[in-house]
Amino acid sequence: MLHHSAASMPMPDTETLRADFPILDQSVNGRRLVYLDNAATTQKPLAVMLTSRHYYEAVNANIHRGTHHLARLATDSFEKARQTVAAFLHAASPDEVIFTSGTTGGINLVSHILALSGRIGQGDEILISTLEHHSNIVPWQMLCERTGAKLRIIPCHEDGTLDQDAFGKLLEGPVKLLALTWISNAFGTVNPVETMVRAAKDAGALVLIDAAQSIAHLPTDVQALGADFIAFSGHKLYAPTGIGVLWGTLPLLESLPPFLGGGEMIKEVTFEKTTYNEPPFKYEAGTPNIEGAIALAAAIEYVEGIGLDAIHEHEMELIRLAADGLSSIPGIRLFGPAGRSGSLSFNIEGVHHYDLGTLIDQMGVAVRTGHHCCQPLMARFGITGTVRASFALYNTRQEVGELIASVDKAAAMLR
Ligand code: PMP
Repeated sequence: MLHHSAASMPMPDTETLRADFPILDQSVNGRRLVYLDNAATTQKPLAVMLTSRHYYEAVNANIHRGTHHLARLATDSFEKARQTVAAFLHAASPDEVIFTSGTTGGINLVSHILALSGRIGQGDEILISTLEHHSNIVPWQMLCERTGAKLRIIPCHEDGTLDQDAFGKLLEGPVKLLALTWISNAFGTVNPVETMVRAAKDAGALVLIDAAQSIAHLPTDVQALGADFIAFSGHKLYAPTGIGVLWGTLPLLESLPPFLGGGEMIKEVTFEKTTYNEPPFKYEAGTPNIEGAIALAAAIEYVEGIGLDAIHEHEMELIRLAADGLSSIPGIRLFGPAGRSGSLSFNIEGVHHYDLGTLIDQMGVAVRTGHHCCQPLMARFGITGTVRASFALYNTRQEVGELIASVDKAAAMLR
C-alpha cells in the first residue's frame, strides 16, 4: 500500500495508485474491468478498508459516555475523525461537523430544522436549480407541502449551465433559501458557487450547497465559500457507504432546533422537560456510524496524501480526452459544458441509453445509464436518460480509450 506524503508532490502514476484498489484488478466478461461509475460511488483504497478492519479488531465500543478503555479509544478516534473532516473543509470548528448517513440525510435534516424553526413558512420561496439531484429537490418539495412555501427553479441553458440572469431575477422574490449543487451529477456542470452564494447571501437567503459530486474533485473551503450548510457523502470520496457530513455554521446550528430526539443529543432529561446538547451532538441522536466516520477520515487522509489539485487535474485530462474521442462518433450528443468535471453524459441518436450501457458492460466497461436521479433535468432536455461515464483518481488514459472504442463499437451494432 502506498503512503503518499506532501500534498504538493506530483501525483503518483495511476498504475501505482491502482494497487491501492484491489477491486479494480478483476475481469468482467473476460475483459479487465473499466470502472467509470464513480459519480454513483467510488471504490475504496486498502487504507480505508484496513482502517475499518482495525476499528473492529482493536477499538470497537460505543462512544461518549463509557469510562472503560475501549470506550475512550473509540470516542477519541471518532472525535479525531471529526477534526480531520473539519480541517479538510477548512471549518472554523469541529463542532460545525455533523456526521450523517450521507448527502440525503444531511439535506433532509436541514429541511426539517428550517421548517421546525419557522425560518421558512407560508409565502416564502426556496430556490433550487434545474440541475439538482432528486435528493436536493424532494426534501424541499416536502417542506413546501408542510409550510406553504414555494419552490422556484433556476433554469439552465442548452449547454447545461445555469441561467445567471434568471437567477438574479429570482433573487428579487422572497427567497429564504438557495439549495444548489456544486457539480451536476448528471452533466458534470460546475456551478459558479462562489458568486451564486454571495448573491443569495446579499439577498438575505440562507444557502445550502450539495457537495456530493464536488467533494472528491474540488478543494472545499467552507469559510471562503460563505454558505450556511454543505452536505456530502463519504462513499463518493473513497469512504464507505452510510456515512456523510453536514457542515453548518456554529451560530446557525446553535440557534436552530434539533430534529431527531434520543440519546446523545440531550443535556438533561426529565419526564417534564428535556434540555438539548450543544452542536454537533444536538444533531447526532442515537449511536452513530462510528467505524464509518473513522474510515471517512482515513479516506480524507488518503486523498490529501495525493493532493486534490493533482487528482482534479488528472481527472480533467481524462474527461477532456473522453469528450474529444467520443465527439467523433456519428450521432453522438454530449451534454454539459466543456469545463465539466467528474461526469460526462452522452446519447447517440437512434440508440437507447440502456442498450448502449448494457452492451458496453459486456465489453467490461461500467457506466451508468438512466436519469441519474435528475428526472426534471432530463425532461428539460426532452430525454429519458443518458449514458454517463464518471471519473476517479485511479482511471487511466487507456481506460478512456476503451470507453471510446466500446461506445463506437456498440453504437455501430445498435444503429
Ligand atoms: N446529490 C448529488 C449531486 C448526488 O450526486 C447524489 C448521489 N448520486 C446525492 C445528492 C445523494 O447522495 P446519497 O445517495 O449518498 O445520499
